[in-house]
Amino acid sequence: AVRMEAVYKRYGDFTALAEVDLKVEKGERIVICGPSGSGKSTLIRCINHIEKHDEGLIFVNGIELQRDPRSVDRVRRETGMVFQNFNLFPHMTILENCVLAPMSAHQLSRKDAEGRALSLLERVHIADQAQKFPAQLSGGQQQRVAIARALCMQPKVMLFDEPTSALDPEMVKEVLETMKSLVGDGMTMICVTHEMGFAREVADRVVFMDKGRIVEQAPPHQFFTAPQTERARYFLDQII
Ligand code: ATP
Ligand code: MG
Repeated sequence: AVRMEAVYKRYGDFTALAEVDLKVEKGERIVICGPSGSGKSTLIRCINHIEKHDEGLIFVNGIELQRDPRSVDRVRRETGMVFQNFNLFPHMTILENCVLAPMSAHQLSRKDAEGRALSLLERVHIADQAQKFPAQLSGGQQQRVAIARALCMQPKVMLFDEPTSALDPEMVKEVLETMKSLVGDGMTMICVTHEMGFAREVADRVVFMDKGRIVEQAPPHQFFTAPQTERARYFLDQII
């Protein structure tokens, strides 16, 4: 579960997040949307402390970020993150990409780490490519590897930041399918995406941001059919 209370994030004079209150229960799936620059990436990056918030409280599975020096490591161990641009290590094979963190952070033996990696790669239909390097795979395949790699750490919370927006249209579906099928079983998911079909189908709640604030949050059927604010109505008109 994730809890943000009155969180602020500033870059110099610019306020990127203002008064953000967000509560995500264990196993809940949240889609975050909103215009460019509204703070979606900043919000998600504050949750695993890639960005450091300036004010307010952030709890991940009860661990308060920054309460003590070890909290950041503990939170990162429980969260997996998938970015827009895959972020695989280019000089490592697919398999090496997947075993690195479990071996160092979970002290798994190579054999166990490879076993875990291969079974996840199998589920994303990439096991036969395990010895290739990232550049030898398509964008959609690389992103499926990135998802498998994150899941190798057995995270309790998965964070996605526009995982399909750098993909050719025909590859979007395979990645969304992968997310649907692998992120389950009580795992908490927070996903920034403009794939509204995915939001309708998968999200328990849609969170709409504008100018660093959460302006509106509602279950998808409600958000899409009866948005409460002018800003959300305008946004939906633009993207659908
Ligand atoms: P997009 O849909 O384009 O990805 P976003 O909603 O994810 O947008 P953020 O990346 O969170 O938006 O950025 C929010 C605001 O904070 C933007 O105005 C951006 O210019 C600013 N910002 C983000 N990172 C930095 C930084 N490192 N330094 C200064 N300003 C930043
Ligand atoms: Mg962003």
